[in-house]
Amino acid sequence: MADKMRVRFAPSPTGPFHIGGARSALFNWLLAKKDEGCLVLRIEDTDRERSTKESEENIKEALKWLGITWDEGIDVGGEHGPYRQTERLHIYEEYTKKLLASGQAYECFCTDEEIEAERQALKDAGKMPIYQGHCRHLTEEQKEAYRAEGRKPTIRFRVPENQEIIVDDMVRGRVTFDSNGVGDFVIVKSDGIPVYNYAVVIDDATMEITHVIRAEEHLSNTPRQVVLYEALGLPTPRFGHVSLILGKDRTKMSKRHGATSVDQYRKLGYLPEAIVNFLALLGWSPTGEEEILSAEQLIEQFSMDRVAKNPAVFDIDKLNWINAQYMKNADPAMICDLAIPHLVEAGYITEDISAEEKAKLVEFTAAVQDHLSYAAQLTELADLYFNDAFDVTDEEMKEILADETVPAVTSLFAQKMNELEVVDFAAVKAIFKAIGKELKVGGKKVFMPLRIVTTGQMHGPDLAKMIPIIGRERILARMARTLDALK
Ligand code: GLU
Repeated sequence: MADKMRVRFAPSPTGPFHIGGARSALFNWLLAKKDEGCLVLRIEDTDRERSTKESEENIKEALKWLGITWDEGIDVGGEHGPYRQTERLHIYEEYTKKLLASGQAYECFCTDEEIEAERQALKDAGKMPIYQGHCRHLTEEQKEAYRAEGRKPTIRFRVPENQEIIVDDMVRGRVTFDSNGVGDFVIVKSDGIPVYNYAVVIDDATMEITHVIRAEEHLSNTPRQVVLYEALGLPTPRFGHVSLILGKDRTKMSKRHGATSVDQYRKLGYLPEAIVNFLALLGWSPTGEEEILSAEQLIEQFSMDRVAKNPAVFDIDKLNWINAQYMKNADPAMICDLAIPHLVEAGYITEDISAEEKAKLVEFTAAVQDHLSYAAQLTELADLYFNDAFDVTDEEMKEILADETVPAVTSLFAQKMNELEVVDFAAVKAIFKAIGKELKVGGKKVFMPLRIVTTGQMHGPDLAKMIPIIGRERILARMARTLDALK
């Protein structure tokens, strides 16, 4: 066996790249990085009907976006290739020949209908629905007769009876299975394509994988894999089955809980570093109190003994909080780019936005980015910047504007704004201060009415920052229009 740690991520490219898959990839990557080991990316595409190139591309793109790099595998190559299962059929065939020759596997001519009928009958009788071994001992003549009928055999593995199958799992501890509950299972379908449980064993062994870290749902497959390793005389890797990811209501994470694919979060303008940070915390706990951790820190701290047995809960509020931490320091131009498709969709801008408009929008983004959990949320603040034609209908706002000091505050503001040579944050702030002083009114009586007449809102990012970005002309026009409408 290889002396350094060799782990793998082995997705089936059958759909959008799920958050759970990304977490498995990440845990493997962290382990490989920490141990200076090797991460292999293998594509498990034996389900030909459901596997697509598009999904494979999507998985690769998402991994790259997250910064999860692989040392061996599709695209990058390596000594243990090919790395796509449908390109490895000749390898599986060699092993199948050996298993058939030694009698550890046999041809099974039962049809799907016959198998199903047997299963149903067993279930009805309250028994375990496992294959009863009809084809276990066929003679050559019987096989020939079946062939003559046009039946195409599957290959079944002969599971040893009365054995305790032990999985010493890195997360779940020692788990034992009774081989009698497994039943002879199909390893190669009648079209010659191996099933997952078979291909995975040959691949993991021939790729010299030392540790298999994957989702808990595969724990029930593990006894089948263990008996195959033993039959093939191949070294069994160590297993670590990472708990399911549940929604906040403690049911399995699904579309009902919101976005489940990495792509959806990417499109909403979440940042890859934040997703990585969040995924790492799904089932693993850091060594200290600090939860905002860079990839380097995660690598340094990660270990399987801090991976929890109990299910991880996907808490979107936590993801938003983590993402917001990363947003604060992110480049506003980048956040703006992430938000643009959403602003276009919401009708605020068109795709052919001019460089000048774009520069303004970046300034706006910089001013509000502390208020965003993710880039697409910019659309929720966009009215502030884009909407010059708001109406003030809210009673509380109207009441504030009915105060006797408002006419003086607003006219002095207009006057001072017009006198300014340069409209910038410091100048606007100074104006607010001066108005308060000259009219002897408190700060709140200055900026609350000014905020309402210039934005149509009661709360929001620092008004002194907003005003220079929206610009003097538009600000004064907004104010005049609002005051007019209230007359
Ligand atoms: N292709 C399997 C899946 O995507 C991988 C299981 C494994 O890691 O062994 O679920």
